[in-house]
Amino acid sequence: MTYDPDNIFAKILRGEIPSTQVYEDDDTLVFMDIMPRADGHCLVIPKTPCRNVLDASPEQLLACMKTTQKISQAAMAAFDAGGVTIQQFNEAVGGQEVFHLHFHILPRHDGIKLRPPGKMEDADVIAANAEKICAALAEG
Ligand code: 5GP
Repeated sequence: MTYDPDNIFAKILRGEIPSTQVYEDDDTLVFMDIMPRADGHCLVIPKTPCRNVLDASPEQLLACMKTTQKISQAAMAAFDAGGVTIQQFNEAVGGQEVFHLHFHILPRHDGIKLRPPGKMEDADVIAANAEKICAALAEG
C-alpha cells in the first residue's frame, strides 16, 4: 500500500482545506475532528507522510506518542474528564478511513458512551471546544 499525497489530512497539512487546529510542533499537528464522537475529540498526525502504524518510522511514532500524551492531558483538564480513549485504525479492514497516520483523542466521562460516528458538528461548537484545549495547554 502506498501513501496517497491527496488524502484529506495531507491537504490539511498543506493548508488546502481548513481545519480547527489546537497544537503543532516541528513534527506533529493536532486538529479537531469534524465528526466528534465526544466533546474535545481531536486528531494527532505526523507532519511527514505515512499511511498508518504499519509503515510509520520509529521517529514518526515517537513524535505522535509524545504529542498524544501532551494533548490527552490537556483535553482531560479542558473537559474535566475522568479518562481518555485513544483510538488508532490501520487500513480499511482495520477501520481506517483516512490514510495518513492519526491518533484519535477522546475525553471520557463516567457513564457517557461515545457518540456514533459520522455526524458533523457545528463549526462554532468545534471552535469553542478547541479553545478549551488551547486554554488548558496554555495553563500547562
Ligand atoms: P479513521 O480513518 O481513523 O477511521 O477516521 C478518520 C477521522 O477523520 C474520522 O473521525 C472523521 O470524522 C475525521 N475526518 C474526516 N474528514 C475530515 C476532515 O475533512 N476534517 C477533519 N477535521 N476531520 C475529518
